[in-house]
Amino acid sequence: MANLWNQEGIPHKGWQLEDVIDVREEGQSEWETEYETCMMCGQPKIRYVHVVTHKDVAENFRVGCNCAEKMTNDYLNPGKREKELRSRSNRRVTWLNKQWKISKNGNEYLNLNGHHLLIYKDKSQKYKIKIGDRFGRKAYDDRTQAKIAIFNNIEYLKEKGKW
Ligand SMILES: [Zn+2]
Repeated sequence: MANLWNQEGIPHKGWQLEDVIDVREEGQSEWETEYETCMMCGQPKIRYVHVVTHKDVAENFRVGCNCAEKMTNDYLNPGKREKELRSRSNRRVTWLNKQWKISKNGNEYLNLNGHHLLIYKDKSQKYKIKIGDRFGRKAYDDRTQAKIAIFNNIEYLKEKGKW
């Protein structure tokens, strides 16, 4: 892929950071990850994609952290956002490696922080979750998806200060 830093007509400054995305999906391993290439400098294997926009450019640019910093002239937030995603991803890996207990009924459960977490099978043999006394409505095809759903819920509760 071309290096657009040297291409005329592509602004170097004045970009806005819209979003930072971890292209590794939840529960995905490294070899399954569909990495991207930085649209600005052509650097391959970008995992944390920084989406930037410019008022004079129709297309959103998906770039790496270094290019995002230069283009937005912001040397704080792109790296900070990437760091947050990286630490969330590490927490998720730790979470998925956690050893769960098995109840008498054969369901997996954990007691954490005073909360009872449960994964059980419904009538259609799909997995459902329960956090404390709240039943999740969604059904999941496998245990990993159910565990990720619980992880996301806990992260949400932590953000709200309710965990
Ligand atoms: Zn780049």
